[in-house]
Amino acid sequence: MSTNLAQAETGSERRVVAVIRGIPTSDGDGVKLTRVIGQRALPDLDPFLMLDEFGSEKGADYIGGFPDHPHRGFETVTYMLDGRMRHGDNKGHSGLLVSGSVQWMTAGRGLVHSEMPEQEDGLMRGFQLWINLPAKDKMCEPRYQEYAPEKIPVATPSPGVSVKVIAGEVAGVKGPIGGVATDPTYLDISLEKGATFTHRLPKDYNAFAYVFEGAALMGSVGLGIKEMEKGQLAVLSQGEVFTVTADAQPARLILVAGKPLREPVVKYGPFVMNTPEEIHQAVADYQAGRL
Ligand code: FE
Repeated sequence: MSTNLAQAETGSERRVVAVIRGIPTSDGDGVKLTRVIGQRALPDLDPFLMLDEFGSEKGADYIGGFPDHPHRGFETVTYMLDGRMRHGDNKGHSGLLVSGSVQWMTAGRGLVHSEMPEQEDGLMRGFQLWINLPAKDKMCEPRYQEYAPEKIPVATPSPGVSVKVIAGEVAGVKGPIGGVATDPTYLDISLEKGATFTHRLPKDYNAFAYVFEGAALMGSVGLGIKEMEKGQLAVLSQGEVFTVTADAQPARLILVAGKPLREPVVKYGPFVMNTPEEIHQAVADYQAGRL
């Protein structure tokens, strides 16, 4: 094989450039969670601002929930794996998230909402991802895209591979989420032992994969394969082809990708804007009851 051909083949593969483990923290009214993106080891991964994993069978770890709090300037994506969470906002929107459902909330110019467990005990498990909005959309009207578990299609692209497609497309199966500025992919991938999944992503999008059950091998034969275990996030290089294999045991992971915004980010708690002035305005609007 010529050197040029080798480069052409390997150059488009996505490799693991950093391995991140989340840190235990708490948020809301004492909810215990693991912060994977949005901590010192990985402050952000444009356009992704935060990734929290929550998971406990003990009511005491989550019962306080997330009472009324504001958001402005970005999107929150809640993917419930297990459990029931009721949400409601100050515009009259409310609903119940159950095991397997997705809420994609575009906060835009802002709202005040609560996210409260609707169970006192038993397994509560899932993810919340924060995705930035481009400057031009930060003050858009709030929007919800909510899907019950049966509305999330499942692709079976190869033997032993099952993919819940929340956003993006796998083997002709399209996820229901649409009209998002960062053109996201959000996949929940289950691999049986010995199975391999390959997925093509836009070359210049940022992407990560987070293993939440079992262990998996990621990367390329040419550029190096990393063994990733439960609780580890792989920051992926730019490129096109992502490959993951469950070797010695089954695995389950999320693969998330999006178009980087490359805009200034000024964060203050639940407000994410482009300038300090816009943050001051957000705080003033919240305090004056204008969200
Ligand atoms: Fe919230």
